[in-house]
Amino acid sequence: MALRQIFSFPDAVLTKKALPVANLTGSEASLIEDMVETMYAAPGVGLAAPQVGVSQRIIVVDVDHEERGKHLLRLVNPTIREQDGSIVWEEGCLSVPEFTAEVTRAGRIVVSGWTLDEEEISIEAEGLLAVALQHEIDHLDGKLFLDRISRLKRDLYKRRVRKLERQGKTPPARSRLPI
Ligand code: ZN
Repeated sequence: MALRQIFSFPDAVLTKKALPVANLTGSEASLIEDMVETMYAAPGVGLAAPQVGVSQRIIVVDVDHEERGKHLLRLVNPTIREQDGSIVWEEGCLSVPEFTAEVTRAGRIVVSGWTLDEEEISIEAEGLLAVALQHEIDHLDGKLFLDRISRLKRDLYKRRVRKLERQGKTPPARSRLPI
């Protein structure tokens, strides 16, 4: 296992639609283990492959850092099958340092996907787990939570990033657990 570099906004890999995984080989297996380690080290509650520069439809999510690993999800080619209700959550993202904003998403979802053992599974989720799964699946479609907030707030963040870039700085890592 190894830590991977987390790409941050405005890197182009984050706006690309990721490709479905056709075969699970050793390289996908080690990518997934690296993603898990990188997510815990960051720390964050979820990570999508494009965030580590790999444009493939793979996500890892663990919303319970008290009992790390117990509820860890590793999903290949995840798809949202059902969604209803709504939830507002103050979201952050490992690829969008130093910024959070309230995002409205479906309050209950059913997601299907494949495990590392090529078993198809279906997960019903509410609360933070529903938020995290939708956030990570957005990454696979080249979307950031910045795309789901008002233009005003988004422009504010973009201006801040450009200013830091001009000063040759990158935004420092956040202390709260981003998705
Ligand atoms: Zn994210």
